[in-house]
Amino acid sequence: MKNILYALAATAALIGGAKAQTFPTQPIKMIVPFAAGGPTDVIARLVGEHMSKTLGQPVTIENITGAGGTTGITLASQAKPDGYTIMMGHMGTHGAAPALYPDLKYDPARDFEPIGMAAGTPVVIVARKDFPAKDLKEFAAYLKTNGDKIKQAHAGIGAVSQMTCVMLNSQVGANPTTLTFTGSGPILSDLMAGKVDYACDQIVNLVTQIKAGSIRAYAIASAERSPVLPDVPTTAEAGLPDYQVTAWNAAFAPKGTPKDIVVKLNAALGQAIDDPATRKALLDLGAVLPQRFQRGSEWLRNFVVNEIARWTPVLKVASAK
Ligand code: ASP
Repeated sequence: MKNILYALAATAALIGGAKAQTFPTQPIKMIVPFAAGGPTDVIARLVGEHMSKTLGQPVTIENITGAGGTTGITLASQAKPDGYTIMMGHMGTHGAAPALYPDLKYDPARDFEPIGMAAGTPVVIVARKDFPAKDLKEFAAYLKTNGDKIKQAHAGIGAVSQMTCVMLNSQVGANPTTLTFTGSGPILSDLMAGKVDYACDQIVNLVTQIKAGSIRAYAIASAERSPVLPDVPTTAEAGLPDYQVTAWNAAFAPKGTPKDIVVKLNAALGQAIDDPATRKALLDLGAVLPQRFQRGSEWLRNFVVNEIARWTPVLKVASAK
């Protein structure tokens, strides 16, 4: 009996190994839980394009929006764990969501095989270009005085744009009317059109429009200024030192995806980040690229656990205010 079990185990290992050797034999779908054109989408498309070259099969993007990214991630978590459906998650879907959705259908720490970190994205406080405040202090004072007359955009409960503005609002005592979008791409269009007043968002969505003057940036919530936005002060410089937040986007596969397939996907992601053209495209948008020690699947697994632990108490307090 024992021998039969050993033989079965050996055959299974062989089949598994053979699978990874040939993987991928068909296109890989990468689910983006936000609308096209936003940071998650842009990062997914940039790395996905290069991963396609490495893997020899197209990595196609599917945008499944709703509920701050949790709709797409829920569906992706339930996909067949064969490496052909993966996803681009972020600090909201895999860090903040457990604090904000009591009935979340997935556990970010348990229901995924982390592939790897794609990019860090400092958060920038932005407003329509004619917002009547010349700097962050005036902006904060204006928000406080004008209460719900002010319209703040976000990409759904648990999205980076939502959770980071919850924190901002609680720190400056703002109580705006909030408007929900399917992603930061559509938020940007409405900011440019002056239909909404402000948002907190990941830098990669904003650099081009800030430089063009079609939206206004009050501060970047990182320790240092971004090399691509040298004129935008840090929150510390602008008088709000406690508001520091760099978001991130990372790739995940559903739980149960074979380890050797995850290893292949992780390597392809790493090659994308090291590719000079992909790297430049990401850096030009203000992304902070993961260092070598931040690229592993296990590193990401631990990082997610720490992010949930970091955000849960902060968001519970800030949302209650
Ligand atoms: N940055 C967005 C958010 O979570 C989503 C997006 O990538 O479009 O707010």
